[in-house]
Amino acid sequence: MALAHVLGFPRIGAQRELKFAQESFWKGASDEAALRETGATLRARHWKAQADAGLDFVTVGDFAWYDQLLGTLALLGAIPQRFGFDAKQLTLADYFTLARGSKQHFAMEMTKWFDTNYHYLVPEWSIETQFDGGVDWLFDEIAEAQALGHQAKVVLVGPLTLLYLGKVKSGLTHKFDLLPKVVAGYQKLLARLQAAGVHAVQIDEPILALELDSDWVQAFTLVYAELTASAPPLLLTTYFGEVQTHAALLRDLPVMGVHLDLVRGDAQLDAFIADWPQDKVLSVGVVDGRNLWRSDLDTILTKLKPLQARLGDRLWVGSSCSLLHVPVDLKNEDKLDQELKSWLSFATQKLSEIVALKAALNSDATAVFAQEIEAHFVASRAALASRRSSTRIHNPLVQKRLAAVTEAHAERTSGFTTRISKQQKKLNLPLFPTTTIGSFPQTAEIRQSRAAYKRGEIGHLDYLDQMRSEIRLVVQKQEELGLDVLVHGEPERNDMVEYFGEQLWGYAFTANGWVQSYGSRCVKPPVIYGDVYRPEAMTVGWSQFAQTLTDKPMKGMLTGPVTMLQWSFVRDDQPREATALQIALALRDEVCDLEKAGIGMIQIDEPAFREGLPLKARDWKHYLDWAVRAFKISAAGVTDETQIHTHMCYSEFNDILPWIAAMDADVITIETSRSDMELLDGFGEFAYPNDIGPGVYDIHSPRVAQVDEMERLLRKARGVIPDQRLWVNPDCGLKTRAWPETYAALENMVLAAKRLRAEVEAERKAA
Ligand code: GLN
Ligand code: ZN
Repeated sequence: MALAHVLGFPRIGAQRELKFAQESFWKGASDEAALRETGATLRARHWKAQADAGLDFVTVGDFAWYDQLLGTLALLGAIPQRFGFDAKQLTLADYFTLARGSKQHFAMEMTKWFDTNYHYLVPEWSIETQFDGGVDWLFDEIAEAQALGHQAKVVLVGPLTLLYLGKVKSGLTHKFDLLPKVVAGYQKLLARLQAAGVHAVQIDEPILALELDSDWVQAFTLVYAELTASAPPLLLTTYFGEVQTHAALLRDLPVMGVHLDLVRGDAQLDAFIADWPQDKVLSVGVVDGRNLWRSDLDTILTKLKPLQARLGDRLWVGSSCSLLHVPVDLKNEDKLDQELKSWLSFATQKLSEIVALKAALNSDATAVFAQEIEAHFVASRAALASRRSSTRIHNPLVQKRLAAVTEAHAERTSGFTTRISKQQKKLNLPLFPTTTIGSFPQTAEIRQSRAAYKRGEIGHLDYLDQMRSEIRLVVQKQEELGLDVLVHGEPERNDMVEYFGEQLWGYAFTANGWVQSYGSRCVKPPVIYGDVYRPEAMTVGWSQFAQTLTDKPMKGMLTGPVTMLQWSFVRDDQPREATALQIALALRDEVCDLEKAGIGMIQIDEPAFREGLPLKARDWKHYLDWAVRAFKISAAGVTDETQIHTHMCYSEFNDILPWIAAMDADVITIETSRSDMELLDGFGEFAYPNDIGPGVYDIHSPRVAQVDEMERLLRKARGVIPDQRLWVNPDCGLKTRAWPETYAALENMVLAAKRLRAEVEAERKAA
């Protein structure tokens, strides 16, 4: 008899209860007891959902007050020592200080969890790091679950994944120097779990889906041999990709079983099943934990049946990964129509899908239950059939355009050298032109009028009026500041993806489809369910109006195809690149319309370009090829005189520079100030051919950068980038900042550019 489980459930709550409780605690509006109460309520609710659905275990340990990696460190006692906390006495307030920083201590670094949009706190490793025990919170949670009568499976971040994801801070020659301590720490923890009556521990080792060096691979055999002596049975879980090359290793590890992600790595099954040991559990992740489509239950069942025949009760059926990455409950979506809803499955619905699969495999259901199971299969078939034929999804207008796309659509008329000289003639910009990345401070009034318009409290014309006066103000300030290339400020945009998605066919928006991004921050990614089509212009009116207010060039502002894709839930019935191409064509129409309306400079933002990179480097080329092509198709419909900009932030670019160059934007602005322009070295070495605007100040902090600092950074940039190619701009958009600091910083930035121009002038005279 197969068993059913999930690798984890979202912790934030269907109404983001955890977020509000955290934030209220941080503000001092409620105490620790209230926060703990909310946590306990959420855990109990989520366990009940799992038990009621019919899973064989509830998962304990997937809850975190901020982040599961930080939770693991707190449990092991391996918190960064620079904060001076006693790991065993850690309070919730201390824990949040680690995550968020304080006046005396900067926060732990945060980075993306593999290729998801979830951010974890990066462990800090030093020779002093201890692993001899910390808080007892996990044990309290286990006791809670037991008291509620649940059969608990405990989840832990695995020792090698934890060690691997940390950053060496001091005193270590290699992370492996810490390995003996890590192993001892986990041994102690596992022994305690066994004593607490835990029947199974899920131990997450997603690093196995990366291209690991052989010493890391070998470490698995050594470490796991030492972990299992006095420990509950371990289920070692892999996810986010196939782990086929480790089949032999995983087969031989002394663990109860192994979990494979069959949604991301369907083909790997054969490599495992051939000689899977008689006594080992194989857990198969067949319900997608990364996307929100209803599963194709028939196809999955067909795949599972032969496994069931061989494995019997050693077959576990589960989610591909933790359900952390999907929204909580479809039940709360009353704005979506029934048809669209029938295609979707959120975390709560996925529990039932998994149980339906298990029940169908075991065919042990009572008559009533059998009907219920059958209903899931019927709904799954119906969803599939309607998605195959729906005219909301398959749009002949789009199909026709796609069929007509040729390679020529991706190329500008002339090469960069020709284009830039025509553009310079037309634009007549000074050396080191100054500009910004697009958004200006989003004041409370702007947010209010957007919200009022959305709720229907103010009419369209009133709304236009309010936005236009904001644009007028932003243009006037930029003129005052003496910036060379202006923007309209994006007051009409609440979010750079949502704004466009709402105007495109094929996109839907949920009311409560929240997913945790980090800490208390949640995002509500749009859903791309059908062919993407732009029925009418999306930004032309705003940009055109803004251009009438100034003689300076007004930069049009769009979100690029890769970012539109990356920050959404994407349909799974065609390759991602096909959807990217549809978005690119929609944007191409917008770019051409902007040009026709007299906008001579258009920025296509791609902040998410790098985060789309596959986990395995061998898959990079395929991704980069289609991603670059999508960008180019969106941009290449204009004449040589129209200048295309792009903007990227948040990441390291040096390993993908040839592809960034291949995007062939006339100008790229990138975040560099936090790395002290070091990021630019790569651009210099690679001799990046087109114009570059390295960010000269960090917009993430309200501190006003001084002229000298920016001048110094610019001088550094001049060492790497030819003067003719260099632009001056902040790191990113200014929407999260307030006006006073924004104005002051830009004033300094313009001054820095002027001083640099004078310097060049003097150099020329001297020569
Ligand atoms: N144009 C956008 C803005 O200025 C870019 C945002 C981003 O890069 N994330 O807000
Ligand atoms: Zn940015």
